Amino acid sequence: MYWDERNECIGPEDLARLQFARLRETVRRAARSPFYRAKGLGEIEVRDLSDVRKLPFTTKDDLREAYPFGMLSCPLDDVVRLHSSSGTTGTPTVVYHSKKDIDRWTDLVARCLYMIGVRKGDVFQNMIGYGLFTGGLGLHYGAERLGCLTIPTGPGNTKRQLKFMKDFGVSVIHVIPSYALHLADEVEKLGIDPRREFPSFKYALLGAEPHTEETRRKVEEFFGIQAYNSYGLSEMNGPGVAFECPEKNGMHIWEDAFLVEVVDPVTLEPVAPGMQGELVITTLEREAMPILRYRTKDLTTLSDEPCPCGRTHRRISRIAGRSDDMIILKGVNIFPMQIEAVLIGIPGVGRNYQVILESRGHNDHITVKVEIDAHLSIDDYRSLEELRKRIVRELRDEILVTPEVVLTEPGGIPVAQGKAVRVVDNRTT
Ligand code: ADP
Ligand code: ZN
Repeated sequence: MYWDERNECIGPEDLARLQFARLRETVRRAARSPFYRAKGLGEIEVRDLSDVRKLPFTTKDDLREAYPFGMLSCPLDDVVRLHSSSGTTGTPTVVYHSKKDIDRWTDLVARCLYMIGVRKGDVFQNMIGYGLFTGGLGLHYGAERLGCLTIPTGPGNTKRQLKFMKDFGVSVIHVIPSYALHLADEVEKLGIDPRREFPSFKYALLGAEPHTEETRRKVEEFFGIQAYNSYGLSEMNGPGVAFECPEKNGMHIWEDAFLVEVVDPVTLEPVAPGMQGELVITTLEREAMPILRYRTKDLTTLSDEPCPCGRTHRRISRIAGRSDDMIILKGVNIFPMQIEAVLIGIPGVGRNYQVILESRGHNDHITVKVEIDAHLSIDDYRSLEELRKRIVRELRDEILVTPEVVLTEPGGIPVAQGKAVRVVDNRTT
């Protein structure tokens, strides 16, 4: 039932002891890097776990500043891999791994896969980008470690994806949720019954971008499978940081490898237990590039309710959004996920949407482009107008601003190769 029972079901005292030992080691290692040495890390003594709060926070900007080698904590000779975050602007941020780092990462990913029932004999198709992006190689290594036949298709070329799924009896896919919906669209367009076409298909891992419970349900119902939420970020390896167990009630965050805090993103003080805040993570096992108190910008809550699956690691809730994805419009704070949650509940709405922000005169203007369901006729003006008005009304009730809503045909909004671009901000100020 467990990949690594000793660690997955570790008791609270043993976990605290392990974390403390690893935190001390991490701080000692990090102090070797030029970046943390300059922050005076050498002088900080960690006497117990709560001393993590004496340590400096680390941000994405810090990583940029430390580019290319400022965070290196071991001889360059010992580095065997480099990854970069998918951010497209400015200096990239890079993360380097030693051989042991890759081994530990692989093991965490294998742990996640095993947890949901993936075993040797499963055929795993990885529809997420390879290269610098961590979702490709990260999952690939984990699946191979379990002994799965692992097919590195990467994203795109939907027809070939579907052909491989059928011809090789694929049972597990790893996919970005927006692309999973696109895949469903394609299957629908081809007029095939997904349950007949892909009889071996069992699990989808939905990772790399925020998505709603409804999106999960749509994927599950369409293909007749189980879908699991997979969370990670390059700075913390990539996938394998937190993952849903079969209970699907939050993602276990692996506390033997990561020390977790949830803080108020403004005051940086810990939030009250169970309250939403920014997830802050310290690596506990990383050799080549330990990172202290990394501000993920991801908003979540942490639960210490015991989980019926028997794993003792706490669970984070579905990510509500990134604090820097928040749209501030006419003084109102809006997360793209709020828009998605409204749209997905309206019959007649298709599988893709995009939010466009513009300045008109001195005012901000929000347009929500929405694909209609393939079953709706583009010529039935009256139904379309009713649908459009309903979307406007329901969105206004949720986001408190009246958006312009533009309906488009299925496929009218381009599908991104990687993470979906939900918000296009063309505002001039
Ligand atoms: P970038 O920060 O440039 O997007 P990464 O590829 O490292 O680079 O992406 C990590 C980020 O992706 C996370 O911080 C989070 O915002 C988002 N993410 C990853 N997995 C999930 C998930 N399951 N749910 C919501 N957001 C996720
Ligand atoms: Zn569980």
